[in-house]
Amino acid sequence: MSLTGKTAVVTGSNSGIGLGVARGLAAEGANVVLNSYTDNEADHALAAEIAQDTGSDVRYIQADLSSASKSRKLIEDAGTAFGSVDILVNNAGIQHVAPISDFPEDKWDAIIAINMSSAFHTSAIAIPMMRKARWGRVINVASAHGLTASPYKSAYVAAKHGVVGLTKVTALETAGESITANAICPGYVLTPLVEAQIPETMKEYDMDRETVIKDVMLARQPSKEFATTEQIGGIAAFLCSDAAAQITGTTLSVDGGWTAL
Ligand code: NAD
Repeated sequence: MSLTGKTAVVTGSNSGIGLGVARGLAAEGANVVLNSYTDNEADHALAAEIAQDTGSDVRYIQADLSSASKSRKLIEDAGTAFGSVDILVNNAGIQHVAPISDFPEDKWDAIIAINMSSAFHTSAIAIPMMRKARWGRVINVASAHGLTASPYKSAYVAAKHGVVGLTKVTALETAGESITANAICPGYVLTPLVEAQIPETMKEYDMDRETVIKDVMLARQPSKEFATTEQIGGIAAFLCSDAAAQITGTTLSVDGGWTAL
């Protein structure tokens, strides 16, 4: 498979899963737009590093995806820079954990905006470009929490279920146009964000690292193993391949059996 000549925008890709996906698509030859809300030297250096490693054209475009207009502008800017956007990976996301009765309104609004609404706004601009090119891939990074729930994650679970619904509608509206839309639903993936939670949880439960990982973090993940960012990158690349041309409107669980329980 080669994605040479295709351009991918991966939202929220200066760390974690987004970075894994960006690396995976660049390794297949795609031009890649990295994105986050920051505009640091390190962000641009990361783009240069991936370009160096893969030989692909990789550029960093800053955009705060809590804003509808900035979400739309990111795709317009990527289209201007590369001529089109062929692959859109909606990955940016944040989390906040609190009971519904105490859930801060501003956190609710931010999670719905970044984790769900931005995917609607980016898709609205990218789909016409894909139609023009007669080929496209929309990949929404949802979550096992797009299919199941946990207490204290009201905004996150609502947003991720919303993303799964948006994915199905996107697939139906683009069916028969060589455009597919699918959601990847990871369980726990070992990202810097998750890694950083391990020491605090070890202290809180007075447990060693191994026990925290198996009995607390991966309590609902039967494989008792994290998925990796490289695996999610590989799945995104697969969804862009010809083999996946008839996979549309569905969810791919990458959760070690969580949603089979
Ligand atoms: P992460 O914190 O490493 O990555 C999140 C990315 O989103 C970062 O690049 C961050 O800069 C970006 N981002 C945050 N707010 C933004 C904003 N306002 N505008 C633009 N970018 C913004 O976390 P991650 O674990 O890699 O998560 C990536 C996605 O995967 C999220 O949607 C998350 O919900 C989902 N996910 C993660 C896991 C997991 O276990 N790590 C499991 C299921 C789903």
